[in-house]
Amino acid sequence: MKIKIPAFLNIRNEANRRSDFKGIIPKEAFNRFPQDTINSINSDAQVEFSSLFDYSKTPIIKGTATLNVTSTCMRCMEEFSYDVIANFIISPVSSEEQADNLPPEYSPLPINEFGEVNIYEGIEEELIMSIALTPKHENENCNPILEEYSTLEDDEEVQDQIDLANNPFASLNALKGKLKEK
Ligand SMILES: [Zn+2]
Repeated sequence: MKIKIPAFLNIRNEANRRSDFKGIIPKEAFNRFPQDTINSINSDAQVEFSSLFDYSKTPIIKGTATLNVTSTCMRCMEEFSYDVIANFIISPVSSEEQADNLPPEYSPLPINEFGEVNIYEGIEEELIMSIALTPKHENENCNPILEEYSTLEDDEEVQDQIDLANNPFASLNALKGKLKEK
């Protein structure tokens, strides 16, 4: 069964309890994705984070969100699917001044009258910031999967593509591979 991340959280209370969260945010919750770069959202977001106080006793949540999307490749104009991965540190704030005083790697998220933040909106924002402005296939020749597996039997080829599509780290590994080539 899929566990849903709560939509609203009191991060300070969760940090006191040192709560860890692992679950999904349903894709229906996301409606601010830029439609000129993202053609479709294909999965719920897989989300994992810990609640804690940082070195200066600021309550934060720190974690990762992964979402599979489809874009049009800006090089070959074919559609392709890939994972958007956002690593985030979110801190609740009650004023602009408080937000300005956070370390630059933190994302401020305003608290409501109950002291809670809207987690879905905060993580949607993190994912949107992680989208490439001009999405392209990782491989410069485009369609890397088809080329790489073109010599395999049909069944094997399909299975490998499914494995790659389901692996949240596939695009990360592809990126690492690309960096190594340079
Ligand atoms: Zn391409």
